[in-house]
Amino acid sequence: MDVQALEQRLQELEQQTLLLEPTTQDRLPVQQAVEQYAQTFLEELPQLPVFVVTPDKGAGLLESPIQETGMPVQEALSLLQMHVDTPGINPASGGHMGYIPGGGLYYSGLGDYLAAVTNRYAGIFYSSPGAVRMENMLIRWMAQEIGFPADTAGNLTSGGSIASLIALVTARDAQNITCRIIPDSVIYCTSHTHHCLDKALRIAGLGECQLRHVPMDAQYRMDPLALAQVIQQDKTAGLKPWLLIASAGTTDVGAVDPLSELAAIAQQNQLWYHVDAAYGGFFALCSVGKEKLKGIEQADSVVMDPHKGLFIPYGSGAVLIKNQKQLAESHHYQASYMQDTLSVTGEASPADLSPELSKHFRGLRIWLPLKLHGVATFRSALEEKLLLAQYTYQKLSTLPGFEVPVVPDLSVVIFRYVPKDGVDANAFNQKLIHAVQLDGRVFLSSTLLEGKFMIRFAILSFRTHKATLDLALEILQEKAQALEAAWA
Ligand SMILES: *Cc1c(COP(=O)(O)O)cnc(C)c1O
Repeated sequence: MDVQALEQRLQELEQQTLLLEPTTQDRLPVQQAVEQYAQTFLEELPQLPVFVVTPDKGAGLLESPIQETGMPVQEALSLLQMHVDTPGINPASGGHMGYIPGGGLYYSGLGDYLAAVTNRYAGIFYSSPGAVRMENMLIRWMAQEIGFPADTAGNLTSGGSIASLIALVTARDAQNITCRIIPDSVIYCTSHTHHCLDKALRIAGLGECQLRHVPMDAQYRMDPLALAQVIQQDKTAGLKPWLLIASAGTTDVGAVDPLSELAAIAQQNQLWYHVDAAYGGFFALCSVGKEKLKGIEQADSVVMDPHKGLFIPYGSGAVLIKNQKQLAESHHYQASYMQDTLSVTGEASPADLSPELSKHFRGLRIWLPLKLHGVATFRSALEEKLLLAQYTYQKLSTLPGFEVPVVPDLSVVIFRYVPKDGVDANAFNQKLIHAVQLDGRVFLSSTLLEGKFMIRFAILSFRTHKATLDLALEILQEKAQALEAAWA
């Protein structure tokens, strides 16, 4: 192409790309349509079902392929409404008490909106000192709430799984677990440890370490005496114990391992002490929860999920590492095209402390709701969840036919219905939860506890209140009675 042809083509292309920069006039109706969609969603939310099965499970979306020309916003929004925001579980609903919910704060959505529009790059201090300060400030705030020191390092991640990976890679390097000694290196956890840690171990090249499932007590907490014994046996056998993974809130029953006792054992044996507080960590914000999490401050690394206990929408985890140097040693990098960024600052760059370089500016979706609501509101919401779990436990214990085997440490309440003689309890409870889910007013999930099919309440959405639980208990009784009658 000669220069003249080049100039002409560039002019044409520039004209065509102007569509990517809508004018104020073009922007407003689109913005209003999107905002109207969000407002309608929130207004209708209390009446919306928590679980919907549509015949095509969203496949209608595929009938509108990605195409060369754009479509009006209303059409796009109606595709979203029909095929994305209808089928499946509605995690925004206060009736969602399955798995581990969180809700998704509206102001967090506005924070994300601003983060996307301004598109600050929060990976490197030099690039956006304010954004990096904000993210580090949030990490220091979380550290303070769980009793970690002021110079704690960490990273805001997409969730607990990636946060766990960062923690375990740091632990691996800090403990010098190189490939030759992996087969003799031993890791301790329980059978209730979250599967994301098994996954992280495998991804971190630690899948061939020896993994010990330490026995648990009757409330499904790790037994410290049993742990001390296994470590001793392993040492005697010439193995290298190096990592202890405790849970501050298991997914199955919400159990908190005896964190202080485990800390002492980890210290005596020079193990890296990791606490998975993805679900339970933010309960440290209220005094009842803080008491339950005592000992967490002695960990080397902690994972906690803002998209659970801080009610932030999906996509927000956090890892805290006590020793900043160890975190940086495993995750820093140098590249010649980054030379401009190597200025000396008081603030570490997230890109030096995580596997990511370009990244979502995750801080804003956490910072904005904390600033607008104030932390006190969160403390109340978290105490409310703990008390709702106690309330549910007490109510269920008095309902005829229901068995509630575990006193809740946090906000998971596990139970089952014990049907009359001759009826298979597992089959019955499977049918019971199915009936509850199809009813659609509340959503519960299930797990297996020593071969028994159990139903669980995970009370953590900021939209879940006492009336939600009263409704859920009513539905459960109604469905259990109907099933019992039909079974005969
Ligand atoms: C949710 C959860 C995880 C995994 O975190 P993600 O954010 O889903 O990746 C790990 N451990 C526990 C105890 C959890 O509840």
